[in-house]
Amino acid sequence: MRHEEAGGTWVSSFVNDGKLCVAALRDRIERAYFPVCDGNFSWLKMIPLKVLGFIWRAKKSRIPSAAALNNRGVALESTVCGVCNTTEETGDHILVTCSLARNVLRMILHRCGLPGMDFHSVSDIIDYASRWGNCPKKRRRLTTILFGAIWCLWKARNDRIF
Ligand SMILES: [Zn+2]
Repeated sequence: MRHEEAGGTWVSSFVNDGKLCVAALRDRIERAYFPVCDGNFSWLKMIPLKVLGFIWRAKKSRIPSAAALNNRGVALESTVCGVCNTTEETGDHILVTCSLARNVLRMILHRCGLPGMDFHSVSDIIDYASRWGNCPKKRRRLTTILFGAIWCLWKARNDRIF
């Protein structure tokens, strides 16, 4: 996909007669490795693209946490996490290390019959999910649950703030 400066529009081989060719795009994606995990496991159809996109951005610390906005020069009253009031609100803090996130993740692993894990970052969770168990089907299910939980933690944080 490339950007055409003159027309200001995106030109892509996946666009046919001005319409996005979803089938071609999906085919291309399915032949690619899982974008979030840098090749650790194959494409997960059951996870919505917006969630995968979010997880990818979170892994790269590209979600608009208070700390990230502050670093970009956005003036904020405080960059401290509004849940625990103890730590700077980074992406990994909101989604992984804050007490709320820890409890949610612990509860999920417990309900899946798995031992608790000491995750420190979104990357840790992706690594864990991509390597867990021997059954690809069960691994996909666990990954979907964990990614869904991360997405919900972000949505809940935004609902709390806005
Ligand atoms: Zn917190």
